[in-house]
Amino acid sequence: DSKHAASRIAAALDAVRVTIDENAEELGRIDSIAGDGDHGIGMQRGSRAAAEEAAAVAEKGAGAATLLSRAADAWSDRAGGTSGALWGVILRTLGEKLGDTEQPSAETVSAGITAAKDAVMSYGKAKVGDKTMVDSLVPFADTLAERVAAGDALLDAWNAATTAAKGAADKTADLMPGMGRARSHGEKALGVPDPGAVSLAMIAETVGGVLAD
Ligand code: ADP
Ligand code: MG
Ligand code: MG
Repeated sequence: DSKHAASRIAAALDAVRVTIDENAEELGRIDSIAGDGDHGIGMQRGSRAAAEEAAAVAEKGAGAATLLSRAADAWSDRAGGTSGALWGVILRTLGEKLGDTEQPSAETVSAGITAAKDAVMSYGKAKVGDKTMVDSLVPFADTLAERVAAGDALLDAWNAATTAAKGAADKTADLMPGMGRARSHGEKALGVPDPGAVSLAMIAETVGGVLAD
């Protein structure tokens, strides 16, 4: 039921918090070359706040949409920075598609991720190739949608989407920045992947691990 869905989403957000904690130093290091160095600490603050809020809301028996909306606000309020605002957009948009009453299906999760991708692109105005999280979010959402439409179970589709996101995040190393603060760092960013694209792929992989449990 939807309470079960909310507690699984809270568990996924807690797993994300742990992954981000483990990788915060590396994310900060990448951002210090191509940006301003705060991506690790920002993601740490945001994911911790979201996980804490989600645990409290799940405890009260709320549905997935309510939980994700509250976690989204916590993440964007506490993280600061561009990626914090965008992670708030992702969580809130996904929740709106899942709703508070239905058990999430492969179709509603995929529709939610596609809507989140569209919302990030509409809010941030970055396109594929601008060296942002959009570069891993688009192949993630598109692969998920294709595999679900082809009849894959959610876990299989999610794992295929994660592989696409990781490959795309690695490839951002070859790109010159087109958006955000990294733009002013120009060629220094060449050879270094975009931190937001890398963290998004990490989060996808972590959530896949929770889906497999
Ligand atoms: P800030 O850039 O405010 O310091 P962070 O360091 O936390 O915030 O996040 C930087 C990441 O945000 C970038 O690596 C990139 O992936 C993402 N980003 C920046 N601007 C945009 C944008 N307009 N659209 C999508 N993603 C963006
Ligand atoms: Mg930064
Ligand atoms: Mg910053």
